Amino acid sequence: MSIIDLLREDLRDFAGYRSARTDACDGEIWLNANESAQPSAADGDGSLRRYPEPQPAPLRAALARLYGCREDQVLAGRGSDEGIDLLLRALCPPGAGAALVTTPTFGMYAVCARLHGTRLVDVPLVDGPGGHACDFDTVAAVAEREDARLVFLCSPGNPGGNLLPLPAIATLAQRLRERAVVVVDEAYLEYAGAPSAVELIGAHHNIAVLRTLSKAHALAAARIGCVIADAALIDALRRCQAPYPLARPCVEAALAALQPAARAATRDRVEQAVAERERMQAALAELPGVRRVYRSRANFVLVRFEQAQAAFERLIGAGIVVRDMRATPGLGDALRISIGTPAQNTVVLAALGATPAGAPVGPRNEALA
Ligand SMILES: *Cc1c(COP(=O)(O)O)cnc(C)c1O
Repeated sequence: MSIIDLLREDLRDFAGYRSARTDACDGEIWLNANESAQPSAADGDGSLRRYPEPQPAPLRAALARLYGCREDQVLAGRGSDEGIDLLLRALCPPGAGAALVTTPTFGMYAVCARLHGTRLVDVPLVDGPGGHACDFDTVAAVAEREDARLVFLCSPGNPGGNLLPLPAIATLAQRLRERAVVVVDEAYLEYAGAPSAVELIGAHHNIAVLRTLSKAHALAAARIGCVIADAALIDALRRCQAPYPLARPCVEAALAALQPAARAATRDRVEQAVAERERMQAALAELPGVRRVYRSRANFVLVRFEQAQAAFERLIGAGIVVRDMRATPGLGDALRISIGTPAQNTVVLAALGATPAGAPVGPRNEALA
């Protein structure tokens, strides 16, 4: 059985759009793509006149080096968000099959599934003393029973910050190898200092890893992320992707961010964020009115409050915007706080430390608490 057998049957012979860049040709005078013959006045060096390479070789090479895979195992796209969408479209037949998520988790899996008309099944994470844990046996059983074609795992998890064990991911992929692709979203892995599921893709053709330059590499506006998987799956995803997904200025920014000096600076930023995360976790846990601080391996912390509305208002009053998680089932008293600069984090602690016990309680959804 090859990974191709997991693709949507109606797309197996789909070639996708043949763009002006699909067929490699040599020539001096390029008149095949209806581009303007002269650059825009807004385009100083004239580099924007032509359609970009769909998958620039230098970017693919840099990403392969960064993530430790082969170049034909990487598909670069507009953030890992695009990877989520492509996986759904390539693997889930419209109106059939399902995608499995483990809530609380990143909202885009459900959004993309909904847009594609894919049924979503949920095997909630187990909120235990060690934080959120994935019940892998139940995930496997439910994926089999519900005909899930995709299983979305997030490690470290958003919003819980929990890391998933690679051996359990490998066992799950092995059990589902004839029926589903296991997606491991590692948007925050740099902050965990842990090995990547990329090391499993050689032995497991049905594991796809999502990585992004949006978080640790500080390039969220450039919209560059990637899928790393079996080369045949990458090839199939590329055929489902837009003809020219990567804007040239964004590719240039990504290449610059992956030069050695910039990578060293990234490592320093990550190190500082990790140190600050540890400081914040310890300090938040000491504050009055804090019920629980989840142990995080990412660049945010999930915090439960006695009075989350009051805490939220305190923070807003100090000009600090955090992510309100209270609409999420099981997190009716929680806020997710990203790790900022050391000075910003200190302001957060001061704002929360000033919360008097017994401050007025705002509206709370007890059913969700
Ligand atoms: C932020 C985030 C992403 C990043 O998405 P991009 O489209 O690459 O910016 C992916 N997954 C999770 C879980 C995230 O929190």
